[in-house]
Amino acid sequence: MSGRTDARACPERTCVGCRERAAKGDLLRIVAIEGECAPDPRGTLPGRGAHVHPTRVCLDLAVRRRAFNRAFRGPGPFDAGALRQYIEGVEQRPGQ
Ligand SMILES: [Zn+2]
Repeated sequence: MSGRTDARACPERTCVGCRERAAKGDLLRIVAIEGECAPDPRGTLPGRGAHVHPTRVCLDLAVRRRAFNRAFRGPGPFDAGALRQYIEGVEQRPGQ
């Protein structure tokens, strides 16, 4: 064992809001569909994806930074309305 065994076991992605790395399963995948940010909780939608913590804080950060324009390589603006609704829905659930 060379000490770096856990590096690949758990795929990590960077949150486009707070820019912290987190396990893929802790982040929400987002894809751009015709100028809209669409939540992709199952990770099955085609296209270029971005990842963000499913919290309003990280969503707001991502919107303010125009992180979606960068992530989706488009001029934007990308409408985050549906995404915000989705996140507000999942945030109702008490976390850990
Ligand atoms: Zn985040």
